[in-house]
Amino acid sequence: MAEVKEYKCPCCSAELTFDSESQKMKCPYCESEFDISTVQDYNEQLAAVAEGSDDMSWETSPGSDWSDGETNGMSIYSCKSCGGEIIADSTTGAASCPYCGNPVVMSGHFSGDLRPDIVIPFKLDKEAAKSALIKHMDGKKLLPKVFREQNHIDEIKGIYVPVWLFDAEADADLAFRCTKVRSWADAQFNYVETKYYQAVRAGKISFANVPVDGSEKMPDDLMESIEPFNVDEAVEFSTAYLSGYLADKYDVTAEQSIERANERIRSSARDAFTSTVRGFDTVTCEGCRIRLNDAKSRYALYPVWILNTTWENNKYIFAMNGQTGKFVGDLPVDRKAYWKWFAIIAVIAFIVIAIGIFMFSGQLNSNGTLGSAVGSVLSAFFGTGSMRSQLKSVRQNSGAAVYEKKNSMQLSDDRDIFLNQKVEKMPRNNSNIQGPGAGGPPQGHGPSVHNDGGTIINIGDLMKK
Ligand SMILES: [Zn+2]
Ligand SMILES: [Zn+2]
Repeated sequence: MAEVKEYKCPCCSAELTFDSESQKMKCPYCESEFDISTVQDYNEQLAAVAEGSDDMSWETSPGSDWSDGETNGMSIYSCKSCGGEIIADSTTGAASCPYCGNPVVMSGHFSGDLRPDIVIPFKLDKEAAKSALIKHMDGKKLLPKVFREQNHIDEIKGIYVPVWLFDAEADADLAFRCTKVRSWADAQFNYVETKYYQAVRAGKISFANVPVDGSEKMPDDLMESIEPFNVDEAVEFSTAYLSGYLADKYDVTAEQSIERANERIRSSARDAFTSTVRGFDTVTCEGCRIRLNDAKSRYALYPVWILNTTWENNKYIFAMNGQTGKFVGDLPVDRKAYWKWFAIIAVIAFIVIAIGIFMFSGQLNSNGTLGSAVGSVLSAFFGTGSMRSQLKSVRQNSGAAVYEKKNSMQLSDDRDIFLNQKVEKMPRNNSNIQGPGAGGPPQGHGPSVHNDGGTIINIGDLMKK
């Protein structure tokens, strides 16, 4: 016989004990009984997918060394204000920091660091970036006027942002605890039947070019908001692509970016496999182990148009994907414009509601006036609220689903294993008293009732005291 280990109850996670009389494993809490082999298989599966057994290491090192003379004519410009360091060739030069707008000074010739592997060249020029920005601000009534000034818009800058790209095939093993719940009733009792299953999934899924921003100064959420970039259009790096543009010097290394890449891959892989667990009323992921094969990383430069501005002591930064034109940037709210629109909407709503009440009831008493006033304030609140929300466009992208290779998911294990079944029986006229034999409700479902074929369900009776 197998050595005595701690085994978890598949129904409630309590520790099981061996019952010598029945020769079975028994749960002291929920009174479930299991064959030893069922419990062993269940617990082995759990151990196999337990946290900490992942292997998500990346062995390849992205980037390469520059060849002699390749960086001649490229200078580093440093920003005293935010500490940003950017690279520009001597003909392009740089006068102000693309991240904070303060003046930059040339601090030396660029050398060292890694040479990018690939670059996505700018596809949209400055004019396209300017018109995207104008369009971005279009129709936003609460935007301060200063943002629309043309000379400011001219300061938009094209910058290559350093990005670490991660490619891998993930081997995933997952275990889920699932239940099917069914209810019915007879003249005396309500019944709730719960069937417990362990769903086991294993397989492969591949990801390509999951990006992690390698620039400290470039806000991660801003960079993830203008994703995706199409890496199919990337070309082998050459300094020729840099002329006329700035380039950011990476200050987050590939090693430091691994954690974020793994987080994005893990959450996308888990979502993809979870979507294959179907036909249950509850599904809880109890573990997900990921091992990476063919894990490769590359160093890329992505084209971004960037504009920053300061308004009332707050910094605002806008970015446009220099390849696809996707434009994002949170905009500030002009307080004066806000209250002006609040008043306009409130007055109009008041008149409309008051006329409505008058036409409906033929009079406008004090109650009607109060109702109109409340209605007008609410309308103004929601009206200006939607104007405010137009000004927000920056979001963090937590998964990597768009980087999943099409149809790359293959299931090698796909089992839904039945574990146990329980029926709770409750007297119909007093649902607070447990029926005989029910040792407490199993975890995982409340008084939720699913009817798939049972006789009658009377939720009113279940809830009645
Ligand atoms: Zn139990
Ligand atoms: Zn700066």
